Amino acid sequence: MGKSKSSGNNGNGNSSENISSFQNLNKREQIERAKVFSEQYRVDDGSNFRLKNYDTYAHFDLGDEDKSLVSDTLQMGIEALVKMQDVLYAQGKWSLLLVFQAMDAAGKDGAIKHVMSGINPQGCQVSSFKAPSNEELDHDFLWRCQKHLPERGRIGIFNRSYYEEVLVVRVHEQILRSQKLAEELITDSIWKERFEDIRNFEKYLNRNGTIVIKFFLNVSKEEQKKRFIERIDDADKNWKFSAADIREREYWDSYMDNYEEMIKNTTTENSPWYVIPADNKSYARIAIASAIIHTLDEMDLEYPKVSEEKIAELNQIREKLIEEEN
Ligand code: ATP
Ligand code: MG
Repeated sequence: MGKSKSSGNNGNGNSSENISSFQNLNKREQIERAKVFSEQYRVDDGSNFRLKNYDTYAHFDLGDEDKSLVSDTLQMGIEALVKMQDVLYAQGKWSLLLVFQAMDAAGKDGAIKHVMSGINPQGCQVSSFKAPSNEELDHDFLWRCQKHLPERGRIGIFNRSYYEEVLVVRVHEQILRSQKLAEELITDSIWKERFEDIRNFEKYLNRNGTIVIKFFLNVSKEEQKKRFIERIDDADKNWKFSAADIREREYWDSYMDNYEEMIKNTTTENSPWYVIPADNKSYARIAIASAIIHTLDEMDLEYPKVSEEKIAELNQIREKLIEEEN
């Protein structure tokens, strides 16, 4: 079953959240609040998943009048995230892979930039996946992503990913034909097989210490149109616009069907999809930060324990430093 919606959902694609409920909490309570907040967007059971049950727009009750409260809340989330990432890095055992998928102009780049701001760059790697090169096509479809998996203690971010194989490649089947695959491998069940391969891949990563969570930034067709027009009207945003984006827009319904199928078939207990309402960018960023906080909190991270001898040694060094004459 899809997740229950926020209390303010009015059933027509709008839901609201009381932002003041994030304020005046201690750090532990903030984390608990963020967890509850993000859960409404997590898909726990794919079997009944319907995209239409998920909002593209959501807002904070006070948020739109009081922008600073919204940015304060995001800042709070970022601070919690920075602290948790520090422990993840110090512990050096687990890694976290965040996958971002969306239609063009849904705000992937901005979300990654804002939510990960402040994170120690040594502990975080972003990889973007465009149409595959010839060399990449000479390998299986997971190969190019495997090369970019986060090392232990790191957060890896995939801006697009192996999921393109069940999205753009499924929308345009001629791409599949150009993939150098043997004819007999392109069976009627190829998509089912790809879902299975992806589920197994993520399970394998899990068993090896990499937690994978996936975000679908759910933007509406109307909002995409608005953002495309902005990109054309604003000279500083022209570089972001490409005619290819408009071509893909024509396949909107097919993309939505395939996103639905993808989420249905690849959301698992350990590697869930989050369907984030993306028409309101600041709301989306808080929801994403909350989901990451949720995941890191469940990972039960702790700084490496220092032995008694080591502490004694540190104290000795400390004494020496204090006694040192300049
Ligand atoms: P921007 O926000 O700047 O538009 P972007 O992620 O859309 O960023 P682009 O260079 O515009 O980057 O687009 C990358 C394109 O590559 C997308 O259209 C995507 O569908 C396509 N792509 C990614 N992976 C594959 C794949 N495996 N096969 C075919 N096309 C792919
Ligand atoms: Mg693009």
